[in-house]
Amino acid sequence: MSTTATPAQVARDKLLGFHGQLIGPEDSNYEEARKVYNAMIERRPALIARCANTEDVTAAVRFARDQGLLLAIRGGGHNGGGLGTVDDGVVIDLSLLKDVQVDPDARVVRVGGGCTWGEVDRATGEHGLATPSGIISTTGVGGLTTGGGIGHLTRECGLTIDNLLEAEMVLASGEVVRANASEHPDLYWAIRGGGGNFGVVTSFLFRLHEVGTVFAGPTFWPVEQGAEVLKVYREFLPSAPRELNGFFAFATVPPAPPFPEELHLRKVSGIVWCYVGGEEAGAKAIAPLLDSVPEPLMHGVQPMPHAMLQGAFDGIYPPGDQWYWRADFVKEIPDEAVEIHARFGEVPTMKSTMHLYPIDGAAHDVGPSETAWSYRDAHWGSVFAGVDSDPANAPAIRNWSIDYHEALHPYSAGGAYVNMMMEEGEERVRASYRDNYDRLAAIKRTYDPDNLFRVNQNIRPAAG
Ligand SMILES: Cc1cc2nc3c(=O)[nH]c(=O)nc-3n(C[C@H](O)[C@H](O)[C@H](O)COP(=O)(O)OP(=O)(O)OC[C@H]3O[C@@H](n4cnc5c(N)ncnc54)[C@H](O)[C@@H]3O)c2cc1C
Repeated sequence: MSTTATPAQVARDKLLGFHGQLIGPEDSNYEEARKVYNAMIERRPALIARCANTEDVTAAVRFARDQGLLLAIRGGGHNGGGLGTVDDGVVIDLSLLKDVQVDPDARVVRVGGGCTWGEVDRATGEHGLATPSGIISTTGVGGLTTGGGIGHLTRECGLTIDNLLEAEMVLASGEVVRANASEHPDLYWAIRGGGGNFGVVTSFLFRLHEVGTVFAGPTFWPVEQGAEVLKVYREFLPSAPRELNGFFAFATVPPAPPFPEELHLRKVSGIVWCYVGGEEAGAKAIAPLLDSVPEPLMHGVQPMPHAMLQGAFDGIYPPGDQWYWRADFVKEIPDEAVEIHARFGEVPTMKSTMHLYPIDGAAHDVGPSETAWSYRDAHWGSVFAGVDSDPANAPAIRNWSIDYHEALHPYSAGGAYVNMMMEEGEERVRASYRDNYDRLAAIKRTYDPDNLFRVNQNIRPAAG
């Protein structure tokens, strides 16, 4: 009787010099290795190539290509749509590429392609420095960066990609290249927003900013006052100093310290602040908003190290919850949109939330065609995140997210931040890149003509 070798067995025979681990369904660590952050995503790759260095990545890329297998790139495994894994294909798992080298004099940090932001923030924070990232420390540098990167420092320091100086990449051909302003500038342009479409980034070089202690934390109001607060916020934030970031949210107060017990599980509207600077200046910057809205239930803003702020949500959002989210870019929030927000603001589960992330200040210093990330004229990125630990609630959180998104979409700018989308089809991807799509498709043809890297928000290679 003849048996056909599985891809994992073939890989073990062929990739003899592989330094990392080749994990197949027959291995005892497979179940753990195949898990991604979003428990709604259940995929069974044929091979997980856990790479220890750039040569391993090259070998895994060539293997997937030669065997005609689908290929997914996994950085931190946080992607909502589960695009860091794939059924029956090869996952290039970068989680062993963890090197972080800070050069405080040159104000740069070189980061392995499999790092999470917590690892980077802790290392740079020791020098009172930071590069802009997101709001949760367990998110991967790889996916967040290549998709754009919106977070607490956006208004002061720009998007994450605005601070990306260079990337080392393994292309579909297996060739290793550096992409920066002078080497492969077209590729450098494309990876600043174009996601994992162009190759596997094995290391990133970021510019650092002086960000030591920040004045940060949440202010909460009753959910019923959400519309009133949002109307003040939409005018206030765009004219606030760049040092001040504040994303608007609908949420539930977590039932744990440091939140006062009487607020536990209360549905709220809120703003999560981050002022890059001292307490006095920060309080002064926030004051005009507080003067124009009702007395809050809680104003929990305080000085803290930037790296601590970055980990503040980690306890509420561990891996293994069910996630379903939709998103949009927003230029304005008219009264009609405020009314819709008020209608959906009572979130369906404790962890579900809606955020409006500011995209202005330094993010507007870069033009819409200077990087692949097109929506430089948007003022906010909205995300409707249905989250719960119980799979039985998956339909409810999914429906809330879709209904909320569909009701507000007519008031959006059209496209969405690719990092906060599910798999929503080609038209949604095109809408998110707008005028940059054709240039991205042409660059894709140069670097990945066969669309090997297609487990992502896919940009198809332009026709020859
Ligand atoms: C809890 C949570 C909070 C979040 N908060 C924010 C936030 O504040 N700001 C924000 O901007 N986004 C945020 N996101 C979205 C996040 O940016 C995306 O989910 C992103 O895809 C995660 O990157 P990852 O490396 O962890 O994902 P993975 O699932 O590992 O990868 C996702 C995709 O990224 C690409 N990719 C990953 N690594 C590489 C690499 N090294 N080289 C090339 N391509 C790569 C691949 O195409 C892959 O398909 C958040 C997500 C979650 C779940």
